[in-house]
Amino acid sequence: SSNMAKSKFEYVRNFETDDTCLRNCYIVVRLDGRNFHKFAEQHKFTKPNDNRALGLMSRSAHSVMEELEDIVIAYGQSDEFSFVFKRTSTWFKRRASKLMTHVTSQFSSSYVFYWREFFGDQPLLFPPSFDGRVVLYPSNRNLRDYLSWRQADCHINNLYNTVFWTLVQKGGLTTVQAEDRLKGTLAADKNEILFSEFDINYNNESALHRKGTTLIWEKRDETVTKRMKLPDEEEKDVPVTRSRRRVQAYHCDIIGDEFWDKHPDILED
Ligand code: ATP
Ligand code: ATP
Ligand code: MG
Ligand code: MG
Ligand code: MG
Ligand code: MG
Repeated sequence: SSNMAKSKFEYVRNFETDDTCLRNCYIVVRLDGRNFHKFAEQHKFTKPNDNRALGLMSRSAHSVMEELEDIVIAYGQSDEFSFVFKRTSTWFKRRASKLMTHVTSQFSSSYVFYWREFFGDQPLLFPPSFDGRVVLYPSNRNLRDYLSWRQADCHINNLYNTVFWTLVQKGGLTTVQAEDRLKGTLAADKNEILFSEFDINYNNESALHRKGTTLIWEKRDETVTKRMKLPDEEEKDVPVTRSRRRVQAYHCDIIGDEFWDKHPDILED
């Protein structure tokens, strides 16, 4: 600050490199749990999907959206979450390292802070961590393709994991046998194994697991009664309605147009 005398050491600041994100682009920060394959085992996550862990991921992402500026949509699955800053954001002068570290540290501390809400008395054995990266997308099409890519990834992994763990848990195969059985199979083959051998229609499996979690801001009218007193009048209860925005979670397809047509203000021109 201005009242601080400059020291002879001050020149070292010039070693900092400029990481301003290109203007007009959506800024995406994606984080991913470090070594969560092991973390999941050590914390006895249920296979293939542990709903406590998914709930905690969403809760932490929710906290990121509430606490940081300008995030218009977030998408998460497994141990990852992507956050999209609006293209006109000037938060932290669009400095990539500031945005990325604020997202990942707010997320990590929330993951620990809210652990008990989802895992109860089961202890958190060590401090988990998440890596972060920043990617810029210059067009709405590119941004939608990015989110589609993550949701397609969710689908591919979840279909594989669902069949794999069904073969193990219900089919009595060892993990090695299940892996062998699935080698070279296509999506249609996997659906067929589930349907013909286990009477499971994959499309009826939980949307949370098949589609992941999309968080967006939604406006809601909220009415509260306020006790008011106007001059020369009796005190009375008056309903006051105001528009509040809150984070809403969806487990739906975001690859097709329907979601985007229903929520036209997420993307800017
Ligand atoms: P920014 O988000 O820009 O970093 P800031 O409020 O964190 O804003 P800093 O320049 O990082 O600003 O300064 C940290 C401030 O936190 C200090 O000015 C001081 O008020 C407070 N602070 C940090 N550590 C201590 C401490 N150990 N004891 C008392 N105050 C502290
Ligand atoms: P890296 O540090 O390279 O990211 P990783 O072990 O975290 O390594 P990922 O590719 O990120 O590898 O995969 C995350 C793993 O975490 C999944 O393969 C799965 O085993 C586990 N996992 C994450 N979330 C859940 C969940 N909700 N339920 C069950 N397992 C989960
Ligand atoms: Mg990885
Ligand atoms: Mg990981
Ligand atoms: Mg991952
Ligand atoms: Mg500070």
